[in-house]
Amino acid sequence: MAILLGSIADDYTGASDLANTLTKNGLRTVQTVGIPDPSLALPDVDAVVVSLKIRSVPASDAVTAATSAERWLRQRGASHVLYKICSTFDSTDAGNIGPVTKALSDAAGGGIVLVTPAFPETGRTVYLGHLFVGGQPLNESPLKDHPLNPMHDANLVRVLTRQSHGAVGLIDLTAIAAGPGVVKARLEALSAAGVTAVIADAIFERDLETLGEIALETAVSTGASGLGLGLARALVHSGRISSGGAASGDVIRPVGGLSAIVAGSCSKATLRQLEVAERSMPVLRLDPERLLAGPDEIAAAISWAGDRIAAGPVVIAASAAPETVTRLQSLYGREASGHAIETATSIITAELVARGVRRLVVAGGETSGAAVDRLAIPAFLIGPEIAAGVPVLRTVGNAQGDMLLALKSGNFGGEDFFAAALAMMH
Ligand code: ADP
Repeated sequence: MAILLGSIADDYTGASDLANTLTKNGLRTVQTVGIPDPSLALPDVDAVVVSLKIRSVPASDAVTAATSAERWLRQRGASHVLYKICSTFDSTDAGNIGPVTKALSDAAGGGIVLVTPAFPETGRTVYLGHLFVGGQPLNESPLKDHPLNPMHDANLVRVLTRQSHGAVGLIDLTAIAAGPGVVKARLEALSAAGVTAVIADAIFERDLETLGEIALETAVSTGASGLGLGLARALVHSGRISSGGAASGDVIRPVGGLSAIVAGSCSKATLRQLEVAERSMPVLRLDPERLLAGPDEIAAAISWAGDRIAAGPVVIAASAAPETVTRLQSLYGREASGHAIETATSIITAELVARGVRRLVVAGGETSGAAVDRLAIPAFLIGPEIAAGVPVLRTVGNAQGDMLLALKSGNFGGEDFFAAALAMMH
C-alpha cells in the first residue's frame, strides 16, 4: 500500500519524537534509521519518517541526503513530504532549513512551502513570525547560547530569509484563525507575488490542524512535531486512514526470546530507575575504568548475563553518579570517555542479542543510538507509549528477526520504568 505521509527528519531524536506524535494522532508509522536500502520491505503503514543526521552538517551535504530520502519516499507513494526540523529552529545563517526546504520543493516541481516550528505541547509557539520558547522569545531563551547553533533572532521571517535565495512571507494568526479558505487565498496571493516560503503563526493545536489541512494540498512543508500533529489529524479527518486512528496496538504482538536492559544514561531519573530495578532483577554495575582499560570487563559482563538471563531479565549499567562521571572525565576527557563507554555498552547489547535477547530496553539517548547502529536495525514500527515520549518499538527488516525495544532518553519515565517497559513486551 502506498504511504500517505513521508517525512525527512534532520536528527534521530527529532525523528523519534515526530514518529511518536504521528502514531499518537492516528497514523501507523515507521521510522527508518538513515535512508533505507531500496529493498527494505515496508509493512502496511500510513507514514514513514526517515531519520537523518543533517542538522549541523554543511548545507550541500544536507541537501544531497534530504533529496535522496525524498526520492525514496515519493517512490513509495508519499504525496506530501514534511521536512522535520527542531521546534527551536536550530540552524545557522548558512542553512540548513532554507536550502533543504528549497531543494525539496524544487524536486517536487516547485510551489510555495509552509514553514512553522510551533509545537504548543512543548511551549513552542509562533506569533507574527516570532518564535517563543515557553514565555521567552527565542533570542532570550537558553537557545541563544547553544554550542552548535546559537539563535540570536526570534523573527523567523528574517532568519529564513538569511538562509534563502527566494522571498519569505508570513501567514499571521488572524488569517489562520479565519480558517483554511483564508489561509489558502493568502498563500496563493503570496505565491503569485514570487514568495517561495512562508512562516506560519501557530499558538494552539487547532492552528496546526488548519495548517495541516492546507499543507496536505501542497507537496512539501517544513516544521516540527506540531506540524506533524496537524498533518496527521488532517489525514485522519479526511477519512484516508484505513486504521481509523487505532494505529499502534498490534505493534506489540509477542516476539518471544529473552529480555535485557542496558543503561548508559547517568541522569537522575535513570539512576533512580536502576535503584528500583535492583529490588526485582539482577543488576550488574560495570566498572567504567575497567571498561576503558580493555575488553575484559565486557567479556565478564557477557558471562555474568549468560549465567542469569535464561531465568529472567537482567540489567547491565555503566551509569554512575555525577562525582564518578566527573572523575572519569577528568582522567580521560569528556568526549573520549563517553564515546568509549557507548562503544562498550553497544558491544554488550549486540552480544546479548546474539545470545537470544529479543526484548530490549536501552537507557540513554547516545547509548541507544550507538546500540541501534551496532545492531544495524534498519527501521522501527512505533507502538504505544510506555511513558510520555517513550513508545515501544518493533523492528522492521531486522536481520535477527523481530524485536521489541524501548529506547529511553535520560530523564524520561517514572521510577518503575524498566518493569513497566518489560510488562508491555512479550
Ligand atoms: P542521556 O540520555 O541521559 O543524556 P546518553 O546515553 O545520551 O544519556 O549520555 C550518557 C553518556 O554518558 C554516554 O556517552 C555514556 O557513554 C556516558 N557514560 C555512561 N556511564 C558513564 C560513566 N560511568 N562515566 C562517564 N560517562 C559515562
